Amino acid sequence: MALMTGEQYIESLRKLDTQVYLFGRKEPNWVDHPIIRPSINCVAMTYDLAQDPEHEDLMTATSNLTGRKVNRFAHLHMGPGDLIKKVKMQRLLGRKTASCFQRCVGMDAFNAVFSTTYECDKAHGTNYHENFKNFVIYVQDNDLTVDGAMTDPKGDRGKSQGQQADSDLFVRVVERRPDGIVVRGAKAHQTGSINSHEHLVMPTQAVAEGDADYAVSFAVPSDAPGLFMIYGRQASDTRKLEPGADIDLGNKRFGGQEALVVFDNVFVPNERIFMNGEYDFAGMLVERFAGYHRQSYGGCKVGVGDVIIGAAALAAEYNGASKASHVKDKLIEMTHLNETLYSCGIACSCEGYCTEAGNYQIDLLLANVCKQNVTRFPYEIVRLAEDIAGGLMVTMPSETDFKSDLKVPTPSDLTVGEWCGKFFAGIEGVTTENRMRILRFLENICLGSSAVGYRTESMHGAGSPQAQRIMIARQGDIDGKKQLAKDIAGIKD
Ligand code: SF4
Ligand code: FE
Repeated sequence: MALMTGEQYIESLRKLDTQVYLFGRKEPNWVDHPIIRPSINCVAMTYDLAQDPEHEDLMTATSNLTGRKVNRFAHLHMGPGDLIKKVKMQRLLGRKTASCFQRCVGMDAFNAVFSTTYECDKAHGTNYHENFKNFVIYVQDNDLTVDGAMTDPKGDRGKSQGQQADSDLFVRVVERRPDGIVVRGAKAHQTGSINSHEHLVMPTQAVAEGDADYAVSFAVPSDAPGLFMIYGRQASDTRKLEPGADIDLGNKRFGGQEALVVFDNVFVPNERIFMNGEYDFAGMLVERFAGYHRQSYGGCKVGVGDVIIGAAALAAEYNGASKASHVKDKLIEMTHLNETLYSCGIACSCEGYCTEAGNYQIDLLLANVCKQNVTRFPYEIVRLAEDIAGGLMVTMPSETDFKSDLKVPTPSDLTVGEWCGKFFAGIEGVTTENRMRILRFLENICLGSSAVGYRTESMHGAGSPQAQRIMIARQGDIDGKKQLAKDIAGIKD
């Protein structure tokens, strides 16, 4: 099948019987729901850009499995060149949507599961790699979006999987049958889960021998019986329900999406199983997926950062402050921070290595440094954007006021909208509406619904800061560095 257009992707979602709950109700037409639709538009952009000859080189690749042209979001990275293009593609998408475009989690999961199943089969004589290759070919040929599902709810963080008071707090195998397994549990804050065609599930952390039922990886369609999702709400999300809302949304067309995905005894046929009790490979799978996703943030967040820097520069211009030296310096600082993140994303891609299965893994130390920086720099970028924008970003009347023709009974006899237009004007030649639009955009990305995808996701997405510090400690080779110092200082033990 040819690569889908964005519109075909959206239509393909309608054919699924995905069970979605929102605000305590089942939402049958979730595809067109104003709160959900912006996140679908974001993923649609990953399809539309692949159709555009200008972006074909970044957005598509040749499958190593079939030789056919595939969307890069469904591709296995076969060298540093692929890894670099991945980061560039993510920056491009960030620039086009100023949001989390969600499809990366599946791509990162493909690459991690591909290499881990190969090594697991070698050690255990299992057949997971073949199962997985068939799944990837199915995804590539049908140009599907896949949710790479890792994070379990985890309950009491001081206890392991099997010690939890409620055994469902981590996804596990509850029944093994001749034709497959039955799984139970949930995955929390799942990016793009509702509008994915398939779910590729992985363990959330290393698994000990006694907890082998929690070492499970598999793929199921998003509308598999027993599977349902509860949508995660976002700051100011109900603005999207206001009739005719436009300017107040800040980013009307695009947005991110997170949901709780529940597996209430879901059956997985044998050919869709990629790990089933091989606890000694759970840690490898987690580490590899997290590594790829930490690389990803050196692309997607940078693209969004580009839009924020542009918006801050426009806000300064509309305020008449663009020539102020401190404003120029703040824009330089934002650019410096943003490009530092990009440098990390590119660096961990260049230093990648070939796995036994043949696909390429990023450099784990540099990818973790990349994500650790992402837990900090976007916060500073947003702080500077708010500084430049000014307080009006959060004190402005609604767009209904700006558009209101209600006369205020005072001597001037102006409408509410005319009063707003008069007092919120900036420099001459720029409409008050345009000034309002850029400030609302900044409000949305700094504090509103898009803050999920830029700020807090920068902190916790792809693992919270401490998870990277553990990896940095493991990869940092302090002993090797001590030896360097000893050699130069003339210390002989
Ligand atoms: Fe992709 Fe970034 Fe969203 Fe992760 S946070 S899914 S890397 S856009
Ligand atoms: Fe993420």
